[in-house]
Amino acid sequence: MRRIRVGLKDRSYDILIGRGLLKSLGLFVKKLKLGQDAIVVTNARVFGLYGDAVKRSFKKSGITVRFEIVPGSEKAKSVGVMAGLLDRISRYDKIKKIFLVALGGGVIGDLTGFVAAIYKRGIPYVQVPTTLLGQVDSSIGGKTAIDLSSAKNLAGAIYQPKMVLSDIALLKSLPKRELQNGLAEVIKYGVIKDRELFSFLENNIEKILKQDPVALEYIVSRSSEIKKTIVEKDEFDKKDVRAILNFGHTLGHAIEAASKYSGRYTHGEAVAIGMLAASDIAMRSGVVQNISDMIRLRRLILSCGLPTKAVKVKPFDIWAAQLHDKKHSGLKNKFILPLAIGKIGIFQGITEKILKLSIAEMVANRS
Ligand code: NAD
Ligand code: MG
Repeated sequence: MRRIRVGLKDRSYDILIGRGLLKSLGLFVKKLKLGQDAIVVTNARVFGLYGDAVKRSFKKSGITVRFEIVPGSEKAKSVGVMAGLLDRISRYDKIKKIFLVALGGGVIGDLTGFVAAIYKRGIPYVQVPTTLLGQVDSSIGGKTAIDLSSAKNLAGAIYQPKMVLSDIALLKSLPKRELQNGLAEVIKYGVIKDRELFSFLENNIEKILKQDPVALEYIVSRSSEIKKTIVEKDEFDKKDVRAILNFGHTLGHAIEAASKYSGRYTHGEAVAIGMLAASDIAMRSGVVQNISDMIRLRRLILSCGLPTKAVKVKPFDIWAAQLHDKKHSGLKNKFILPLAIGKIGIFQGITEKILKLSIAEMVANRS
Protein backbone atom coordinates (compact mmCIF):
# COMPACT_ATOMS: atom_id res chain seq x y z
CA MET A 1 0.00 0.00 0.00
CA ARG A 2 1.15 3.55 -0.79
CA ARG A 3 0.43 6.35 1.65
CA ILE A 4 0.62 9.90 0.30
CA ARG A 5 0.24 12.71 2.82
CA VAL A 6 -1.54 15.86 1.64
CA GLY A 7 0.02 18.52 3.86
CA LEU A 8 -2.49 21.30 4.53
CA LYS A 9 -1.85 22.26 8.18
CA ASP A 10 -4.78 21.15 10.33
CA ARG A 11 -6.59 19.98 7.19
CA SER A 12 -3.92 17.42 6.25
CA TYR A 13 -4.91 13.88 5.31
CA ASP A 14 -3.64 10.65 3.77
CA ILE A 15 -4.35 9.19 0.36
CA LEU A 16 -4.10 5.39 0.63
CA ILE A 17 -3.52 3.56 -2.64
CA GLY A 18 -3.42 -0.20 -3.11
CA ARG A 19 -5.12 -3.32 -4.37
CA GLY A 20 -7.85 -4.82 -2.18
CA LEU A 21 -7.97 -1.99 0.39
CA LEU A 22 -11.77 -1.82 0.61
CA LYS A 23 -12.00 -4.65 3.10
CA SER A 24 -9.89 -2.59 5.51
CA LEU A 25 -11.91 0.62 5.09
CA GLY A 26 -13.52 0.25 8.53
CA LEU A 27 -10.14 -0.23 10.15
CA PHE A 28 -8.60 2.86 8.53
CA VAL A 29 -11.65 4.99 9.32
CA LYS A 30 -11.72 3.84 12.94
CA LYS A 31 -8.18 5.12 13.42
CA LEU A 32 -9.35 8.59 12.35
CA LYS A 33 -11.84 8.71 15.26
CA LEU A 34 -14.59 10.32 13.20
CA GLY A 35 -17.42 8.67 15.14
CA GLN A 36 -19.37 5.43 15.31
CA ASP A 37 -21.97 6.09 12.62
CA ALA A 38 -21.21 6.32 8.91
CA ILE A 39 -23.58 7.50 6.22
CA VAL A 40 -22.33 6.11 2.91
CA VAL A 41 -23.51 8.08 -0.12
CA THR A 42 -23.48 6.02 -3.30
CA ASN A 43 -25.59 5.10 -6.33
CA ALA A 44 -27.43 1.89 -7.16
CA ARG A 45 -24.75 0.55 -9.49
CA VAL A 46 -21.84 1.04 -7.12
CA PHE A 47 -23.95 -0.13 -4.16
CA GLY A 48 -24.71 -3.35 -6.06
CA LEU A 49 -21.01 -3.90 -6.73
CA TYR A 50 -19.39 -2.87 -3.46
CA GLY A 51 -22.13 -2.13 -0.90
CA ASP A 52 -21.80 -5.46 0.90
CA ALA A 53 -18.02 -5.24 1.16
CA VAL A 54 -18.31 -1.76 2.68
CA LYS A 55 -20.98 -2.89 5.14
CA ARG A 56 -18.90 -5.87 6.26
CA SER A 57 -15.77 -3.80 6.65
CA PHE A 58 -17.46 -1.18 8.86
CA LYS A 59 -19.28 -3.83 10.88
CA LYS A 60 -15.99 -5.55 11.69
CA SER A 61 -14.74 -2.26 13.14
CA GLY A 62 -17.88 -1.64 15.17
CA ILE A 63 -19.12 1.24 13.01
CA THR A 64 -22.79 1.29 12.00
CA VAL A 65 -23.60 2.08 8.37
CA ARG A 66 -26.56 3.67 6.68
CA PHE A 67 -26.58 3.87 2.87
CA GLU A 68 -28.00 6.81 0.98
CA ILE A 69 -28.61 6.00 -2.67
CA VAL A 70 -28.64 8.92 -5.10
CA PRO A 71 -29.18 8.99 -8.91
CA GLY A 72 -26.43 7.40 -11.03
CA SER A 73 -25.59 10.38 -13.22
CA GLU A 74 -24.58 14.05 -13.04
CA LYS A 75 -28.23 14.66 -12.00
CA ALA A 76 -27.16 13.70 -8.47
CA LYS A 77 -25.24 17.01 -8.29
CA SER A 78 -28.48 19.00 -8.09
CA VAL A 79 -30.07 21.28 -5.51
CA GLY A 80 -32.98 18.84 -5.19
CA VAL A 81 -30.86 15.75 -4.49
CA MET A 82 -28.66 17.75 -2.13
CA ALA A 83 -31.69 19.09 -0.21
CA GLY A 84 -33.19 15.59 0.13
CA LEU A 85 -29.89 14.24 1.38
CA LEU A 86 -29.47 17.03 3.95
CA ASP A 87 -32.98 16.43 5.19
CA ARG A 88 -32.56 12.68 5.65
CA ILE A 89 -29.16 13.14 7.29
CA SER A 90 -30.58 15.64 9.78
CA ARG A 91 -33.38 13.28 10.76
CA TYR A 92 -30.99 10.38 11.29
CA ASP A 93 -28.47 12.60 13.07
CA LYS A 94 -30.92 13.43 15.89
CA ILE A 95 -29.71 10.36 17.71
CA LYS A 96 -26.21 10.02 16.28
CA LYS A 97 -22.98 11.88 15.61
CA ILE A 98 -22.31 11.04 12.02
CA PHE A 99 -19.68 11.32 9.30
CA LEU A 100 -20.06 10.81 5.55
CA VAL A 101 -18.40 8.44 3.13
CA ALA A 102 -18.44 9.13 -0.63
CA LEU A 103 -18.48 5.74 -2.39
CA GLY A 104 -18.46 6.35 -6.15
CA GLY A 105 -17.08 8.49 -8.94
CA GLY A 106 -16.58 12.24 -9.09
CA VAL A 107 -20.31 12.91 -9.02
CA ILE A 108 -20.77 11.20 -5.66
CA GLY A 109 -17.54 12.73 -4.34
CA ASP A 110 -18.52 16.29 -5.27
CA LEU A 111 -22.05 15.96 -3.86
CA THR A 112 -21.02 14.23 -0.64
CA GLY A 113 -18.15 16.64 -0.03
CA PHE A 114 -20.43 19.64 -0.48
CA VAL A 115 -23.10 18.23 1.83
CA ALA A 116 -20.38 17.48 4.42
CA ALA A 117 -19.12 21.08 4.04
CA ILE A 118 -22.48 22.75 4.69
CA TYR A 119 -24.30 20.38 7.07
CA LYS A 120 -23.87 21.91 10.55
CA ARG A 121 -21.19 24.11 8.91
CA GLY A 122 -18.98 21.09 8.34
CA ILE A 123 -18.87 17.44 9.36
CA PRO A 124 -16.07 14.97 8.48
CA TYR A 125 -16.12 12.94 5.29
CA VAL A 126 -14.01 10.29 3.62
CA GLN A 127 -13.52 9.74 -0.11
CA VAL A 128 -13.63 6.22 -1.54
CA PRO A 129 -13.29 6.94 -5.28
CA THR A 130 -14.41 4.09 -7.53
CA THR A 131 -13.60 5.57 -10.97
CA LEU A 132 -10.17 6.28 -12.44
CA LEU A 133 -11.12 9.96 -12.69
CA GLY A 134 -12.14 9.90 -9.05
CA GLN A 135 -8.86 8.28 -7.96
CA VAL A 136 -6.51 10.49 -9.97
CA ASP A 137 -8.36 13.77 -9.75
CA SER A 138 -11.71 14.58 -8.13
CA SER A 139 -11.19 12.94 -4.72
CA ILE A 140 -8.01 14.93 -4.04
CA GLY A 141 -7.88 18.61 -3.19
CA GLY A 142 -11.22 19.30 -1.55
CA LYS A 143 -13.08 20.94 -4.42
CA THR A 144 -16.73 20.06 -3.87
CA ALA A 145 -19.78 21.32 -5.75
CA ILE A 146 -23.23 20.86 -7.17
CA ASP A 147 -24.56 22.15 -10.48
CA LEU A 148 -27.05 24.99 -10.96
CA SER A 149 -29.27 25.34 -14.01
CA SER A 150 -27.05 28.08 -15.46
CA ALA A 151 -23.74 26.21 -15.12
CA LYS A 152 -21.95 23.18 -13.72
CA ASN A 153 -20.17 23.31 -10.34
CA LEU A 154 -21.50 26.80 -9.61
CA ALA A 155 -22.31 26.23 -5.93
CA GLY A 156 -19.51 24.66 -3.96
CA ALA A 157 -16.84 24.83 -1.31
CA ILE A 158 -13.23 23.90 -0.86
CA TYR A 159 -13.53 21.40 1.96
CA GLN A 160 -10.93 18.68 2.48
CA PRO A 161 -11.77 15.05 3.25
CA LYS A 162 -10.27 13.24 6.26
CA MET A 163 -8.90 10.44 4.06
CA VAL A 164 -8.93 9.21 0.47
CA LEU A 165 -8.93 5.45 0.00
CA SER A 166 -8.15 4.46 -3.59
CA ASP A 167 -8.61 0.74 -4.08
CA ILE A 168 -7.28 -0.14 -7.54
CA ALA A 169 -9.28 -3.42 -7.48
CA LEU A 170 -12.51 -1.39 -7.76
CA LEU A 171 -11.51 -0.23 -11.24
CA LYS A 172 -11.94 -3.77 -12.57
CA SER A 173 -15.69 -3.28 -13.08
CA LEU A 174 -15.29 0.11 -14.77
CA PRO A 175 -16.56 0.35 -18.38
CA LYS A 176 -13.81 1.08 -20.91
CA ARG A 177 -15.16 4.53 -21.74
CA GLU A 178 -14.96 5.52 -18.06
CA LEU A 179 -11.37 4.28 -17.93
CA GLN A 180 -10.52 6.40 -20.98
CA ASN A 181 -12.28 9.33 -19.34
CA GLY A 182 -9.85 9.17 -16.41
CA LEU A 183 -6.87 8.52 -18.68
CA ALA A 184 -7.23 11.94 -20.29
CA GLU A 185 -6.53 13.53 -16.89
CA VAL A 186 -3.51 11.23 -16.40
CA ILE A 187 -2.12 12.35 -19.78
CA LYS A 188 -2.69 15.91 -18.58
CA TYR A 189 -0.51 15.30 -15.50
CA GLY A 190 2.21 13.90 -17.75
CA VAL A 191 2.19 16.99 -19.96
CA ILE A 192 2.11 19.54 -17.15
CA LYS A 193 4.61 17.93 -14.78
CA ASP A 194 6.04 14.52 -15.56
CA ARG A 195 7.83 13.26 -18.68
CA GLU A 196 8.37 9.91 -16.98
CA LEU A 197 4.65 9.37 -16.40
CA PHE A 198 4.03 10.36 -20.02
CA SER A 199 6.57 7.78 -21.28
CA PHE A 200 5.08 5.16 -18.96
CA LEU A 201 1.69 5.76 -20.57
CA GLU A 202 3.20 5.47 -24.06
CA ASN A 203 4.95 2.20 -23.19
CA ASN A 204 2.13 0.56 -21.23
CA ILE A 205 -1.06 1.74 -22.87
CA GLU A 206 -2.18 -1.75 -23.87
CA LYS A 207 -1.77 -3.05 -20.32
CA ILE A 208 -3.60 -0.04 -18.95
CA LEU A 209 -6.53 -0.45 -21.34
CA LYS A 210 -6.72 -4.09 -20.24
CA GLN A 211 -6.96 -2.80 -16.67
CA ASP A 212 -3.69 -4.33 -15.52
CA PRO A 213 -3.70 -3.55 -11.77
CA VAL A 214 0.06 -2.96 -11.46
CA ALA A 215 0.08 -0.42 -14.28
CA LEU A 216 -3.06 1.24 -12.92
CA GLU A 217 -1.56 1.45 -9.44
CA TYR A 218 1.46 3.27 -10.85
CA ILE A 219 -0.58 5.86 -12.75
CA VAL A 220 -2.94 6.46 -9.80
CA SER A 221 0.05 6.89 -7.45
CA ARG A 222 1.95 9.29 -9.72
CA SER A 223 -1.15 11.30 -10.55
CA SER A 224 -2.10 11.56 -6.87
CA GLU A 225 1.41 12.79 -6.00
CA ILE A 226 1.32 15.44 -8.71
CA LYS A 227 -2.14 16.67 -7.75
CA LYS A 228 -1.29 16.76 -4.04
CA THR A 229 1.88 18.78 -4.67
CA ILE A 230 -0.08 21.35 -6.66
CA VAL A 231 -2.94 21.51 -4.12
CA GLU A 232 -0.47 21.99 -1.25
CA LYS A 233 0.91 25.09 -2.97
CA ASP A 234 -2.48 26.62 -3.77
CA GLU A 235 -5.25 25.02 -1.73
CA PHE A 236 -7.76 27.79 -2.42
CA ASP A 237 -6.96 28.24 -6.11
CA LYS A 238 -5.75 31.82 -5.70
CA LYS A 239 -2.14 31.80 -6.95
CA ASP A 240 -2.16 30.61 -10.57
CA VAL A 241 -0.59 27.33 -9.37
CA ARG A 242 -3.70 25.16 -9.27
CA ALA A 243 -4.64 26.79 -12.59
CA ILE A 244 -2.20 24.55 -14.51
CA LEU A 245 -4.52 21.62 -13.74
CA ASN A 246 -6.79 23.34 -16.22
CA PHE A 247 -4.55 22.46 -19.17
CA GLY A 248 -6.88 21.32 -21.98
CA HIS A 249 -9.92 22.38 -20.00
CA THR A 250 -10.70 25.84 -21.40
CA LEU A 251 -11.53 24.52 -24.85
CA GLY A 252 -12.53 21.10 -23.42
CA HIS A 253 -15.23 22.72 -21.32
CA ALA A 254 -16.22 24.77 -24.36
CA ILE A 255 -16.83 21.53 -26.31
CA GLU A 256 -18.93 20.16 -23.45
CA ALA A 257 -20.92 23.42 -23.31
CA ALA A 258 -21.25 23.71 -27.11
CA SER A 259 -22.67 20.17 -27.24
CA LYS A 260 -25.01 21.24 -24.41
CA TYR A 261 -23.68 18.59 -22.02
CA SER A 262 -25.58 16.07 -24.12
CA GLY A 263 -23.21 13.33 -23.00
CA ARG A 264 -21.84 13.02 -26.55
CA TYR A 265 -18.46 13.72 -25.05
CA THR A 266 -17.29 12.53 -21.68
CA HIS A 267 -15.27 15.13 -19.81
CA GLY A 268 -12.07 13.22 -20.62
CA GLU A 269 -12.88 13.07 -24.33
CA ALA A 270 -13.49 16.82 -24.38
CA VAL A 271 -10.26 17.42 -22.45
CA ALA A 272 -8.33 15.24 -24.92
CA ILE A 273 -9.51 17.45 -27.80
CA GLY A 274 -8.90 20.53 -25.62
CA MET A 275 -5.28 19.48 -24.91
CA LEU A 276 -4.62 19.11 -28.63
CA ALA A 277 -6.20 22.51 -29.24
CA ALA A 278 -3.95 24.04 -26.56
CA SER A 279 -0.99 22.36 -28.25
CA ASP A 280 -2.10 23.84 -31.59
CA ILE A 281 -2.38 27.33 -30.05
CA ALA A 282 1.07 26.89 -28.52
CA MET A 283 2.56 25.92 -31.87
CA ARG A 284 0.88 28.80 -33.73
CA SER A 285 2.03 31.22 -31.01
CA GLY A 286 5.61 30.00 -31.32
CA VAL A 287 6.01 29.04 -27.66
CA VAL A 288 6.51 25.32 -28.20
CA GLN A 289 10.09 24.24 -27.52
CA ASN A 290 9.75 20.76 -28.91
CA ILE A 291 7.40 20.06 -31.82
CA SER A 292 8.02 16.31 -31.67
CA ASP A 293 6.55 16.33 -28.14
CA MET A 294 3.32 17.69 -29.60
CA ILE A 295 3.27 14.81 -32.07
CA ARG A 296 3.76 12.38 -29.18
CA LEU A 297 0.78 13.94 -27.39
CA ARG A 298 -1.48 13.39 -30.40
CA ARG A 299 -0.22 9.81 -30.78
CA LEU A 300 -0.84 8.96 -27.12
CA ILE A 301 -4.36 10.39 -27.20
CA LEU A 302 -5.08 8.28 -30.28
CA SER A 303 -3.64 5.12 -28.74
CA CYS A 304 -5.89 5.57 -25.69
CA GLY A 305 -8.87 5.54 -28.03
CA LEU A 306 -9.68 9.14 -27.15
CA PRO A 307 -10.89 11.53 -29.87
CA THR A 308 -8.65 14.15 -31.43
CA LYS A 309 -11.43 16.18 -33.03
CA ALA A 310 -15.02 17.13 -32.21
CA VAL A 311 -17.89 16.22 -34.48
CA LYS A 312 -21.32 17.83 -34.64
CA VAL A 313 -20.10 20.89 -32.76
CA LYS A 314 -19.97 24.32 -34.40
CA PRO A 315 -16.68 26.27 -34.16
CA PHE A 316 -18.68 29.41 -33.38
CA ASP A 317 -20.33 27.70 -30.39
CA ILE A 318 -16.91 26.63 -29.07
CA TRP A 319 -15.66 30.19 -29.54
CA ALA A 320 -18.66 31.66 -27.74
CA ALA A 321 -18.48 29.13 -24.88
CA GLN A 322 -14.77 29.71 -24.14
CA LEU A 323 -15.40 33.44 -23.64
CA HIS A 324 -17.04 32.52 -20.30
CA ASP A 325 -13.95 30.73 -18.96
CA LYS A 326 -13.32 31.60 -15.34
CA LYS A 327 -9.58 32.14 -15.97
CA HIS A 328 -10.09 34.98 -18.44
CA SER A 329 -9.90 38.36 -16.78
CA GLY A 330 -11.25 41.57 -18.28
CA LEU A 331 -10.54 41.72 -21.99
CA LYS A 332 -7.57 39.37 -21.75
CA ASN A 333 -7.96 35.64 -22.18
CA LYS A 334 -5.72 33.21 -20.33
CA PHE A 335 -4.57 29.82 -21.62
CA ILE A 336 -2.47 27.03 -20.15
CA LEU A 337 -0.15 26.01 -23.00
CA PRO A 338 2.38 23.17 -23.33
CA LEU A 339 5.97 24.12 -24.12
CA ALA A 340 7.18 20.51 -24.09
CA ILE A 341 6.10 17.34 -22.35
CA GLY A 342 6.53 18.04 -18.65
CA LYS A 343 6.65 21.82 -19.15
CA ILE A 344 3.69 24.16 -19.10
CA GLY A 345 3.18 27.93 -19.25
CA ILE A 346 0.36 30.36 -18.55
CA PHE A 347 -0.23 32.84 -21.38
CA GLN A 348 -2.49 35.85 -21.61
CA GLY A 349 -3.90 37.63 -24.61
CA ILE A 350 -3.82 34.92 -27.28
CA THR A 351 -4.92 36.69 -30.46
CA GLU A 352 -8.39 36.17 -31.84
CA LYS A 353 -6.87 35.08 -35.14
CA ILE A 354 -4.83 32.24 -33.63
CA LEU A 355 -7.67 31.17 -31.39
CA LYS A 356 -10.14 30.98 -34.26
CA LEU A 357 -7.71 28.99 -36.42
CA SER A 358 -7.09 26.51 -33.59
CA ILE A 359 -10.81 26.18 -32.87
CA ALA A 360 -11.47 25.46 -36.57
CA GLU A 361 -8.77 22.78 -36.33
CA MET A 362 -10.58 21.14 -33.37
CA VAL A 363 -13.66 20.38 -35.39
CA ALA A 364 -13.73 17.44 -37.77
CA ASN A 365 -14.40 18.19 -41.41
CA ARG A 366 -17.53 16.26 -42.24
CA SER A 367 -17.11 16.27 -46.03
P1 NAD B 1 -19.32 9.52 -12.40
O1 NAD B 1 -19.16 9.81 -10.98
O2 NAD B 1 -20.60 9.93 -13.06
O3 NAD B 1 -19.10 7.96 -12.65
C1 NAD B 1 -19.18 7.46 -13.95
C2 NAD B 1 -20.06 6.23 -14.05
O4 NAD B 1 -19.34 5.10 -13.57
C3 NAD B 1 -21.33 6.29 -13.21
O5 NAD B 1 -22.40 5.80 -14.00
C4 NAD B 1 -21.04 5.36 -12.04
O6 NAD B 1 -22.20 4.75 -11.56
C5 NAD B 1 -20.12 4.35 -12.67
N1 NAD B 1 -19.18 3.72 -11.75
C6 NAD B 1 -18.50 4.30 -10.75
N2 NAD B 1 -17.61 3.45 -10.24
C7 NAD B 1 -17.75 2.29 -10.88
C8 NAD B 1 -17.09 1.03 -10.79
N3 NAD B 1 -16.07 0.83 -9.95
N4 NAD B 1 -17.48 0.05 -11.63
C9 NAD B 1 -18.47 0.28 -12.54
N5 NAD B 1 -19.10 1.44 -12.68
C10 NAD B 1 -18.75 2.44 -11.86
O7 NAD B 1 -18.15 10.18 -13.26
P2 NAD B 1 -16.64 10.59 -12.91
O8 NAD B 1 -15.99 10.74 -14.23
O9 NAD B 1 -16.03 9.74 -11.89
O10 NAD B 1 -16.81 12.04 -12.25
C11 NAD B 1 -17.30 13.14 -12.98
C12 NAD B 1 -17.66 14.25 -12.01
O11 NAD B 1 -16.49 14.62 -11.28
C13 NAD B 1 -18.18 15.52 -12.64
O12 NAD B 1 -19.34 15.93 -11.98
C14 NAD B 1 -17.07 16.52 -12.45
O13 NAD B 1 -17.55 17.85 -12.33
C15 NAD B 1 -16.44 16.04 -11.18
N6 NAD B 1 -15.03 16.40 -11.00
C16 NAD B 1 -14.65 17.00 -9.83
C17 NAD B 1 -13.34 17.34 -9.61
C18 NAD B 1 -12.94 17.95 -8.29
O14 NAD B 1 -11.80 18.37 -8.15
N7 NAD B 1 -13.82 17.98 -7.34
C19 NAD B 1 -12.36 17.09 -10.58
C20 NAD B 1 -12.76 16.48 -11.76
C21 NAD B 1 -14.09 16.13 -11.96
MG1 MG C 1 -11.00 17.67 -15.52
